[in-house]
Parts: sequence; C-alpha cells; structure tokens
Amino acid sequence: MLECENCNPRYILSSERIGQAYAINRRFIFIMRILGLGLVGCDKFCGLMDIASSFLHKSSYDFYVTKIHECVKIVAEKLFSLAAEEEKKQTCKENDLTDTTDVTVSGDGTWKRRGFASLYGVSTLIGYYSGKVLDVFVKSSYCKSCESWKKKLTTEEYYEWHTKHVENNECSANHQGAAGNMEASSILEMFLRSLKKYGLRYTSYIGDGDSKTFTKVVNSKPYGEDVVITKKECVGHVQKRMGTRLRELVKKTVQEIIVNGKKIMKKILSGKGKLTAKLIDKLTVYYGLAIRRHSNSVEDMRNAIWATYYHYASTDENPQHEKCPGGANSWCAWQRASATNSLSSFKHDYAPLSSDILSSIKPIYENLSKETLLERCLGGFTQNNNESMNQLIWKITPKIVPAGAKTVEIAAYVASSHSMKESLLSLCFFMR
Ligand SMILES: [Zn+2]
Ligand SMILES: [Zn+2]
Repeated sequence: MLECENCNPRYILSSERIGQAYAINRRFIFIMRILGLGLVGCDKFCGLMDIASSFLHKSSYDFYVTKIHECVKIVAEKLFSLAAEEEKKQTCKENDLTDTTDVTVSGDGTWKRRGFASLYGVSTLIGYYSGKVLDVFVKSSYCKSCESWKKKLTTEEYYEWHTKHVENNECSANHQGAAGNMEASSILEMFLRSLKKYGLRYTSYIGDGDSKTFTKVVNSKPYGEDVVITKKECVGHVQKRMGTRLRELVKKTVQEIIVNGKKIMKKILSGKGKLTAKLIDKLTVYYGLAIRRHSNSVEDMRNAIWATYYHYASTDENPQHEKCPGGANSWCAWQRASATNSLSSFKHDYAPLSSDILSSIKPIYENLSKETLLERCLGGFTQNNNESMNQLIWKITPKIVPAGAKTVEIAAYVASSHSMKESLLSLCFFMR
C-alpha cells in the first residue's frame, strides 16, 4: 500500500496472479516440496518468519499441489522426450550407425513404506549413453479414500462406491498384490510404451542380480516374437556377490566343539590368518576390479579373476603368479621382482591362504567366473545412475515423512528432471 498526504492510499499487487491463485504461493509450495516439506512445514516457516500464523487452508493447499503435480508431469514428460532423442543420437554416434531404434537402458526400482504392506514404488529407466531419465513409473498400493471407506461401509455399499471411484479415475492405488512385484510390472509397462512414446525399443537392459524383472520383460515379448532383449549385469552388484558368497561360506562352515562342557558351533574358516572380514572385502574388491579393468574380453576377465586366487595361493616354494600381470608396474610384487631380475631374493610378505580355505573358496571362484555371467558383464555397465536417482527422490520426499501418491510422483518427476539443464528453471517458468 502506498500512502500520500494528498491522495487516497493506492494498492499495488506484490505478486502476479494465475487465475484466482497467487504465483508466489504456488512457487513457495513447490520450493518447500522440493526441500521435503509439506503444509506443516509451510506453516512453521511463515510463523517463524512472522509472515502469518498459518499459511493456507488444507483444501487450498491441496488444490495448489494438484496444479503443481500437473505442471511437473507435463514438463518432465517433455524432458523425457528430449532425453530419448539424445540417447538415440548418442547411440548412433558411439556405434557408427546412421539410424537406430534400439537403445540400452538401466532400470531399477525403489520403495517408500507407508504402514504395513501399503507402499509406493518408483521405477526408473535411464539411457546408457546420455545418463538421462527416459521414463519413470510410480506405483501405489495405497489410496486414502479407499482406506477410509473400507472401515466405514459394508461390503456391498463399498463395492458400489469403489466401482465409481475407479471409473472416475479417482483412485490413487494402481497396484494390487505383493509389493515385491511393483518393480517388474512398472518396468514392463515402460517397455510396452517405449515405441509409442519415443519410437525406441529398449533392446539391452542393465539390471541387478534380481532376475525377476528381466524375466518378466522377456517373457512378455514387448517388441514381438523376433526381437531379442539382452541382459547386462551391473558390475557393482556382481562384485557384491563375491562378498556375499564368501561370508555365507564362513557362516555355514562350522564344527561342533566342546568348551567348558558346552557345545559350541565354531566357524572354522574365520579368525586370524583365515577368511577375515578384511580379507573378504579385499577379495571382493579385486574380483570387481578384474571385471571392470577387462570389460572388453571374457577371457581376460576370467584370467584376472583367477590371478587373485593363485596370487594368494602362492608360497615362496610354490609361486603361482603366472596369471598376474607382468612388468615393473604390476600390482603383483612377484611379477615386479621378476621384471627387475630380483626374484632370487624375493620373499612373500603375506601368508598364503591355507589349502583348506583355497579348496573351499574354489567353487565360488568357479561359479563367479562362468562364461554366461562374464558375458553379461562385457561393457562394464553399472546402475550407479539409478542409485543416485533413487537417493534424490527420497531427499525430495523423505521416506520417514508420510506423503500421498501425488507427492511421491512430484518427487519422482522433479528428481528425474534434475540432471537436465532445462530442468528446474523451466519448471518454475512453466508454473507462472
Ligand atoms: Zn482408491
Ligand atoms: Zn601375483
């Protein structure tokens, strides 16, 4: 308000309006949402800043959120199409193709629990070359209305209401059955719509060890009988298998002994000089490196995997470093000594693994150096992008804070647009 001695007070609008709504309110709610805060957070902020004792009524707030959800979805879908074009271009460039419809994507799912068994799942597909999100799918097994009606009504009335509720597209639950199936069904739906959305086929899929998703996609033949979809392993997950198997082995290999008259199951492979946690971590990292550093050749991968095994089996009397890389810069001290002609004075500075340990871990090495597995590791693919994306989603809508399906979707769309330079600026612009 401007006041002057000679004329009436004049009011100047401090914020643009979008219809009935103030742009500043919409933007404020959106920013608070990105910071992981809802209406309660807005109220607190305004109270502490002496702006107002309470910010907005719940119904107005919900209206704003609905609008924000619409905007964010439209912008994100636009960005996905741009990302799909970029992925296609880069695939052509990297593979010397003039045109292609086939691209490589990495996929993963993440969950937010809400009470017992009801939860949200967000699944994402990311282009391999662009590193950008091509599609997201949010599944919810929870609907606030359904939940409250269930308690109030008899089954018949409930049935009638529910039919309408679903027909009118009001239900926010889009998933029935086990929550564990959310990822598989979401990813399949994204495969099924890829041709229509972008004219692309996801013919190469990078996923984690859980083959449920990939099996479901392959069995559904989303691109017809003749199109083969290949699976690539995430090297990070394959590496973890070595650690898991070794730890399982230590846990399972027990012997009954009697101490002070009591029966005790002793883990005979654990303890000093045996498979300690530290050694297991070391072997796991070496296994991962063997795959990563030789991601162009199955044969080289396998050699490098077995190099660590025989390296640790070596003694001064029986050195077995043939598979270790040669040269003065090798990680293997024996090979370094060999390259500098100083083998005559060489002594191993570590204790070799005992023969019983070697024989018990050999089957694990055999299993994890199988050709079928290593072939899927060719290319050294990872799901790191998906993991970052998942973390970002739950930063925007923290797992511990209760949230509705819309909030989770807003978080998923904002997070997936985050990596794109056009992203948040255009989101804010769009909402004006
Ligand atoms: Zn419902
Ligand atoms: Zn060696």
